[in-house]
Amino acid sequence: MPTFAEARRIILEYVTPLSAQRVSLLGSLSRVLAEDVIAPRDLPSFSNSAMDGYAVRAADCQNSRALPIIDYVPAGRLATKSVMPGTAIKIMTGAPLPDGGDSIVPIEHATESGGAVRVMQPVELHQYVRFAGEDVRKGETVLAAGTLVRPYEINLLASFGKAYVTVVRRPRVAIVATGDELVALGETPSIGKIVNSNSYSLAAAITSAGAIPVLLGIARDDLDSHREKLAKGLKADVLITSAGVSMGDRDLVREVLEKLGVEIVFWRVKVKPGKALAFGRKNGRLVFALPGNPVSAMLTFEEFVAPALLKMMGRGQTVKPLFPAVLQSELKKKAGQTHLVRVRLEYLGGKYLAWSAGKQDTGLLKTMLQANALAVLPEDRETFAAGEEIQVHLLDGSVGMTAL
Ligand code: AMP
Ligand code: MG
Repeated sequence: MPTFAEARRIILEYVTPLSAQRVSLLGSLSRVLAEDVIAPRDLPSFSNSAMDGYAVRAADCQNSRALPIIDYVPAGRLATKSVMPGTAIKIMTGAPLPDGGDSIVPIEHATESGGAVRVMQPVELHQYVRFAGEDVRKGETVLAAGTLVRPYEINLLASFGKAYVTVVRRPRVAIVATGDELVALGETPSIGKIVNSNSYSLAAAITSAGAIPVLLGIARDDLDSHREKLAKGLKADVLITSAGVSMGDRDLVREVLEKLGVEIVFWRVKVKPGKALAFGRKNGRLVFALPGNPVSAMLTFEEFVAPALLKMMGRGQTVKPLFPAVLQSELKKKAGQTHLVRVRLEYLGGKYLAWSAGKQDTGLLKTMLQANALAVLPEDRETFAAGEEIQVHLLDGSVGMTAL
């Protein structure tokens, strides 16, 4: 049985990034470039003024003499004259630097009267000029394949007029819930039945990771129903199942996966919650059989599936970074397995403080709602004292919750 860390390493070893696809500029947000972007032109593409002011020759400005203003150039236009020795051209921010001018005197450094400008402050050669190509040179690899597209990259791509960009494809992730006790969302469960909630938390988490969920509904606890749903799910890039993967005699997921030709790479991991996790593959497609308890399903997704999806989408950083927090009350666990503990973090006095978010049973949803982070308690330890530093990471979407 692999440890928590080994299981994640094995999964990530099996994952390779998906193929490329062309998308609209805005469609590339939060995705990874599949091709280098070469600058098609200089940026700025022409030398221009960084200030509202006067284009001058710096050498003319040494003794605060009046320079006649011979032209006016707003943004978007070209000067009709050159800056001749001893003259100035009034210029607005972003307007092309007129020939002959080498520096800009900002309005606030000058006084204008009678059609002439008097410079009141020393002028440094080239001041307030944005030179063509000073930001980016034509032909430069300005964004490398593998770059994550953020709003900042979007600005650069738009600056080069790129209405379409080539990014790594997003995986389609099929979700199959299993269990005779499940009813579909919208149906009222009779005694003994529950609503299939896992399919929805998983679909939400898949969307939040940037991948595409495909809801395939519920497989009943018989071989035919499992075979039908799982075979359908194996057409997607990734298949996720919930429940039916422990030791019970109605736990059919692994058996049917194997019958469908899935190689089970591992089953069971030294982690709590999530011990029953199975990971398999078939023809480059990945299968994650998650435990059924809602919290176990959500946390195994967070720790094992999300990193795999991110790697498929070309992301470099796939695992959330851990950071220290000071534990506020004692925690105990068994040695021999990593524990994932739902905690509530607050940032106080320059550090993160962590409180247990409540009882840690995996059927309890409210503890999950109270939590904004997960503590990863190492396998070999048993007791964690109040005041001790533990390692935590934020839960999906929790930035912006109180006091973080
Ligand atoms: P199992 O692994 O089939 O023994 O299921 C473990 C627990 O998870 C049981 O209490 C199930 O009722 C619950 N469970 C299974 N599937 C779902 C689901 N899709 N949504 C919510 N709870 C579920
Ligand atoms: Mg079941």
